[in-house]
Amino acid sequence: MTFSDFNFDPQLLEGLQSMGYVKPTPIQSQAIPLILDHKDLIACAQTGTGKTASYLLPVLQHISISEKKYTKALILAPTRELAQQIDQQVEGLAYFAGISSIAVYGGGDGMIYEQQRRAMMDGVDIVIATPGRLIAHLASGAIKLSHVQYLVLDEADRMLDMGFYEDIIKIISNLPKERQTLLFSATMPPKIRTLANTILKDPEQINIAISQPASGISQQVYMVYDNQKIKLISSILKEGDYKSVLIFCSRKETVKDLNRTLRKEGIKSEAFHSDLEQEQRETVLRAFKSRSLPVIIGTDVLSRGIDVEGISLVINFDVPPDPEDYIHRIGRTARAETTGTAITFVNEKDQRRFSFIENLIGREIPRISLPAELGEGPAYNPAVKRPSGSGNRRNGNKKKVWVKRNKPQQNNPK
Ligand code: AMP
Repeated sequence: MTFSDFNFDPQLLEGLQSMGYVKPTPIQSQAIPLILDHKDLIACAQTGTGKTASYLLPVLQHISISEKKYTKALILAPTRELAQQIDQQVEGLAYFAGISSIAVYGGGDGMIYEQQRRAMMDGVDIVIATPGRLIAHLASGAIKLSHVQYLVLDEADRMLDMGFYEDIIKIISNLPKERQTLLFSATMPPKIRTLANTILKDPEQINIAISQPASGISQQVYMVYDNQKIKLISSILKEGDYKSVLIFCSRKETVKDLNRTLRKEGIKSEAFHSDLEQEQRETVLRAFKSRSLPVIIGTDVLSRGIDVEGISLVINFDVPPDPEDYIHRIGRTARAETTGTAITFVNEKDQRRFSFIENLIGREIPRISLPAELGEGPAYNPAVKRPSGSGNRRNGNKKKVWVKRNKPQQNNPK
């Protein structure tokens, strides 16, 4: 199957070309015809599969052949980072079709709020919003969603985890009943089924490799004691030829400590966590994207927020609190069917939690021996250990500026 099978407008095909998308991914091949056919859809697909373009392309196609006066599509996303990332894909894909969009999320100063409000009052074609901020705009009475024809819930499971259920229902009560609704979720727990039953009409269903990391990722695990982790990480970074590395830690204190330690070791790294201002986050991400910064260390806030091509290595400095977070973290490498490596450090306390991950993905992740100079790591015996600590699932919210149409960046899938 190729993109020309979908009879997209030439402007949209041009957008695809400029993004460097040559061939539809599996989710795109399955979802695009259904969405073009005006079906409601419930899709189980994780990040890295090309899910965003799978709903954006047909929605953009429908919008590009309709009048342009009102907001026609509303996309709800759990975090500012995901909203921005979706907005960037809209900018790229819709550049030649001249479709407008804005990412709307919390924080920032009054000017940002005003810019978002004005864009929505002017009838920006597509609004990509986090639920909380959108509710604030709706409450101000300034914006109307009465012409929205397409509603997308992206990472619906994450939105429910973050407590947005009531907000979502409230937002939907402002939308026309006649609309097309598309729900994307990495997992399908019962609460997602309940939400789907409430808001979708006779939906089609697609399941893309449920809870499976992308096939191009080489997963590896080291059994380590805590006091071996730093030496191990610096030996991996110094010996491997990795250009772009993400290191995940479950707590921001660990992120900060590890960043300080690695910098002392002469490794060029930056920390990324919820204490950073939006501008600081963007500076770090920009440096990483431009390859002037090879290593970012972050909490799970980072795993949902980063969309960078060619990440070659993801290291889990500790085992993520939720097995699904493992999929999200390692999904940052091997984007859209390229290849990458994901290494997880498992100490004695995290062994049981790690066993949950192997249960979820349904196979054993290859164990790698520690370098000889580090000595022996702990034996693997998950049955007697308890998971430790809890994750960082907070949604940071600072500021963002009104969308500006740049020429799309070339996306170079390997
Ligand atoms: P997503 O799963 O939507 O987060 O997309 C994962 C990454 O794949 C993003 O960087 C997209 O730009 C990229 N992508 C999406 N569709 C394609 C495609 N058909 N070919 C190549 N890259 C793609």
